[in-house]
Amino acid sequence: SGSQKILSGCIYACASYSTLDTLNTYLRPSIHALTQTTDFFSYYRLNLYDKECPFWSDESSMCGNIACAVNTIENEEDVPKIWRAEELGKLEGARAQHPDRKLQKERQEKPLLGELGEDVGESCVVEYDDECDERDYCVPEDESATAKGDYVSLIDNPERFTGYAGPGAHQVWEAIYRENCFAKKDVRASPNAMQGLSGLHSMMRDHEKHQALALGIDSSYTGDDLELDDECLEKRVFYRVVSGMHASISTHLCYDYLNKTTGTWGPNVECYRERLHDHPERVSNLYFNYALVLRAVAKARTSLQDYTFCSGDPRQDRATKKLVLSLADKISRGPVIYDESLMWKDDSATELKDDFRNRFRNVSRTMDCVGCDKCRLWGKLQTAGYGTALKILFEFDEKDPASNPPLRRTEVVALMNTLDKISAALSALNEFHGMVAGDHQHA
Ligand code: FAD
Repeated sequence: SGSQKILSGCIYACASYSTLDTLNTYLRPSIHALTQTTDFFSYYRLNLYDKECPFWSDESSMCGNIACAVNTIENEEDVPKIWRAEELGKLEGARAQHPDRKLQKERQEKPLLGELGEDVGESCVVEYDDECDERDYCVPEDESATAKGDYVSLIDNPERFTGYAGPGAHQVWEAIYRENCFAKKDVRASPNAMQGLSGLHSMMRDHEKHQALALGIDSSYTGDDLELDDECLEKRVFYRVVSGMHASISTHLCYDYLNKTTGTWGPNVECYRERLHDHPERVSNLYFNYALVLRAVAKARTSLQDYTFCSGDPRQDRATKKLVLSLADKISRGPVIYDESLMWKDDSATELKDDFRNRFRNVSRTMDCVGCDKCRLWGKLQTAGYGTALKILFEFDEKDPASNPPLRRTEVVALMNTLDKISAALSALNEFHGMVAGDHQHA
């Protein structure tokens, strides 16, 4: 049950698929409970409609299908009271102002008890707005009272097949993958990364071959992305995150697919075969993302311990925190599956990290170019989730928690829901695998 120790000193997500599957079976109920039963994690506030695509203009690629639409919450009464504009305004005082960093820190240390009414119990902290922290990997969603945005119930708007496809969708994916083309001068191997990678490379190949056999895939596959060439570890991580996110989206749309003939929703095995089964490197990148995000949640434990989960219902807030901490503990007690400490070690690390961060921010900006509201919602949430994971992995210092950048509510919600998406995708992939194996037996 996830307690087996493996491959210490491993710098990648080098656990075998079966280790990660076992871990997922163990963690899945906790992740599901967190995202599906708590108000805190099931409402997300974002600016879905008012941001223009910063890279190109193409009205023709908008998706008009009903499945592309998002039900936003029109009526404020449906949102927990504490997040309504009126209440957020109250928190910020008569003249709504952006609290500066010092003030925010003081508020976190000396919470605004009483301002929300005694019944709230734990105090609630004003979200700071979209002022960028230089350590962010994402363009943040602004949840402050003055910001434009809508609350969305993530439960009422599941990620599934929408019919959004064609040149518009391809243009977005192309733009995202182009971000992976780091400046040529940087394309050289970092000695530390290479050192760790050469050992890892053989391990990855072995376990992927092993897994390939288990999945019934051609075991001669080595994976484009596994070629060392002159790419350093950091750039390969960037690619794997994006490709793994793409694989997760593909899995969800194939798993919850609309059969246009019968009008029913359900798994589409052909869709899975074409997009995932025949591309084992995409599946591998999804497992990689699972390891990466799990490690981020475990690393954020101290911050989450100090975090005020605030939905206006003190009992539910206490239960939410308990669920979060119990999940982080379960992950921490599990195997070492990702060790980020060997990254960013060589001389050009600072420059490379800035580049990495800027490129990931661009990926998050590209989400405003997605011409399908439902896809934009989940695209934004997942880039924010991965951005938060990267921020925790690369900017948090476990030995000096006070120096860590604060986490916004939108970031915490995005992180856990992204973990839920990956975890659900892994379960779906295993089901698909069973269906394909069943087809083989009957053939
Ligand atoms: P696409 O998935 O569009 O892929 C384009 C090309 O990228 C492929 O030809 C292949 O060369 C490469 N590629 C594909 N997968 C990977 C991978 N994992 N790693 C590396 N390279 C890869 N549609 C829905 O139905 N529901 C959604 O919720 C949804 N969300 C979306 C969110 C975003 C941000 C975007 C950009 C699109 C979304 N779409 C969604 C559309 C969906 O992702 C596909 O674009 C669409 O279904 C068309 O698929 P396709 O087979 O043409 O290939």
